[in-house]
Amino acid sequence: MKLLALPAFADNYIWMLHDGREALVVDPGEATPVIEALQTHGLRLSGILVTHHHGDHVGGIDALRSVLHGPVYGPAREAIPPPYTPLSDGDRVHWNGLDFEVIDVPGHTAGHIAYWSPRVGDSPLLFCGDTLFSAGCGRLFEGTPAQMSASLARLAALPGTTRVCCAHEYTLGNLRFAQAVEPGNAALAEHLRHCEALRGRGHPTLPSTIARERAINPFLRCREPEVVAAARRRHAAADDAVAVLAALREWKNEFR
Ligand code: ZN
Ligand code: FE
Repeated sequence: MKLLALPAFADNYIWMLHDGREALVVDPGEATPVIEALQTHGLRLSGILVTHHHGDHVGGIDALRSVLHGPVYGPAREAIPPPYTPLSDGDRVHWNGLDFEVIDVPGHTAGHIAYWSPRVGDSPLLFCGDTLFSAGCGRLFEGTPAQMSASLARLAALPGTTRVCCAHEYTLGNLRFAQAVEPGNAALAEHLRHCEALRGRGHPTLPSTIARERAINPFLRCREPEVVAAARRRHAAADDAVAVLAALREWKNEFR
């Protein structure tokens, strides 16, 4: 099974899984990159997974229906272009011999879901949309800091070997913010150098892994003393993990 990150818009990735014959895509915000990949690799599109309702994740669905031989799956608590199979926490998706488990991850949007498979090839795989980014998390458009904190905690508890497929290439900006939060984190500094080299060659910084995100992502590290101290310099009242996350998220919104 091959995993491809198809670039879309300015900084989106449409993730594609394929076995040389059948393809699945995640969050096709536009159809053209998908159609080009299907043609390039000689594939038949047999499934679409959607994490949330934003246009840059659903805008290509209708244009792909004429080449789609299979279902569209999406969040039960959000409206995406119909028809689709609505999913919520604990539901399972079977595609081409793979199993995905649905995890409710509200925060970025109210009904955002993620898809986790225990085994794709030799390791687990997560499609997390705009909830978890490498070294960051999604903006809180519809949810609360408490919801995002709980959602990120669930993702952080997945096996460390899980490959993390985020929907945007935000890694370098996120890592620079993460360094402002945790200047003493050596793993973070090392990963920033690695990602600068990748981007310099035009390569994606993704997928990441859950183990790496636990080590470098401040939004998964809201109980680390250095992260708590940084959050308290912004908001003196940041006294628990949710308040630390809220302070970090507000800080990130204005960080340049
Ligand atoms: Zn979004
Ligand atoms: Fe997005």
